[in-house]
Amino acid sequence: MIRTRFAPSPTGYLHIGGLRTALYAYLFAKKDGDENGQFILRIEDTDRERLVSDAAQIIYDTLKNAGLPYDEGPDVGGDYGPYIQSDRKEIYAEYAKKLVELGGAYYCFCTKERLESLTDENGQRKYDKHCLHLSREEVERRIAAGEPYVIRQNIPEEGVSWYEDLVYGKISVELKELEDNILIKSDGMPTYNFANVIDDHLMKINYVIRGTEYLSSTPKYNLLYEAFGWEIPKYLHLPPVMRDEKHKLSKRYGDPSYNDLLNEGFLGEALVNYIALLGWSPKENVEKMDMETLKRLFTLEGISHSPAIFDKTKLRWLNGEYIKAMSPEEFAERAKPWLDKSPAAGRFDYITVAKLLITRVDTFGDIAEKLAFLDAYDGFDLEMLENKKQKATKELAKEILPELIERVEALPAYTEEALHDLLIGYATEKGYKNGQVMWPFRIAITGAMNTPGGAIEMALLFGKEVTLCRLKETLARLA
Ligand code: GLU
Repeated sequence: MIRTRFAPSPTGYLHIGGLRTALYAYLFAKKDGDENGQFILRIEDTDRERLVSDAAQIIYDTLKNAGLPYDEGPDVGGDYGPYIQSDRKEIYAEYAKKLVELGGAYYCFCTKERLESLTDENGQRKYDKHCLHLSREEVERRIAAGEPYVIRQNIPEEGVSWYEDLVYGKISVELKELEDNILIKSDGMPTYNFANVIDDHLMKINYVIRGTEYLSSTPKYNLLYEAFGWEIPKYLHLPPVMRDEKHKLSKRYGDPSYNDLLNEGFLGEALVNYIALLGWSPKENVEKMDMETLKRLFTLEGISHSPAIFDKTKLRWLNGEYIKAMSPEEFAERAKPWLDKSPAAGRFDYITVAKLLITRVDTFGDIAEKLAFLDAYDGFDLEMLENKKQKATKELAKEILPELIERVEALPAYTEEALHDLLIGYATEKGYKNGQVMWPFRIAITGAMNTPGGAIEMALLFGKEVTLCRLKETLARLA
């Protein structure tokens, strides 16, 4: 059974690269309808300084919101907990002790000064494994005397360690290049180098999926598995997500997190779809994929080696495709928080507004701008009635508005069809081009060059009373 995990540090947000890792780990476990595959969440908070309160909750909420429910995790439980590393301190201590007995690690009492004296001119540390040679009694004596110590990995001085990454192929390192990393810090907390191995083993993770920043240190972790006599998991390292060719996407430098993008008015399902394409592509030539389709189409072979560039223009396009597929009811409901803050709030029926906006916005964040004209009517510039292309002029407007007002007033039913017949019928009857009638009519009731809809749609949005009132007001201003 496939078991994958997502192991974020609680930083207070989930960045796009992190969510991409989570998504691939989820899809890898759940692909091909492999309902038995399991996806686990583990919070890596041993780096105390980075701890942010409520940060873990943000991760739980984001994963659930993005449609990536985990089978085991801090807030849902499971057989291999605890799932928060700071709650596993004793476990690491126990395994570190065991590793020392197995010869894979040693207690190190060297002071900072001493270690600095071992640094060569290139800044490379040359551990002399001094403490490795202390007798067991001496080690016990020093610990009992309260001397501070760390536990270091005992890396053999000769040889090569290699593994076959499922994305990048063979990765190998010369052991003499590797430092004897700290596994347990002087405060008793493990480092990532140690905790990731212990946890992945104890949690029975057999596919480790994470960013390429761990690609070259993985041989070192494998030495730990070997020292314990444990089976080494398979690895998939994922290319970074970039802002541009040179820079990684980074929240610290202002790039948006998943939640920022939701707040900008992107849809969760469009974001997940777009994120899936950052470093993976399906064999089929499709881009719009819901979660079920992603699970069906996801393959290891589709994962790319090259960095993926986060392209907001493409994300906007894809988000727009999701919006276009909505019913007006769904749009009205999901866009409500944005509509509530727009000039449509309290004035128009949201479903009517939704019908106008569905094909005209890429994100809910575009709504306010598309509706801004609603607040800009009073005293609008009458020059807008002039339009060369439509052969419309102010004089013409002055001439036709009285008749249009009369005919609108006389309409028995104020419907799309009736308005259409009225305006087109009037143009035909009087020998005008359609635009010569539609243009002044629309400008007179909206006061805006660009509106999300033409003359008839705008007349329907405002309703008979307001439409008539505005036609008359414009006419009065032209006098
Ligand atoms: N806590 C690590 C990170 O956030 C996880 C690396 C891993 O998945 O092993 O980068």
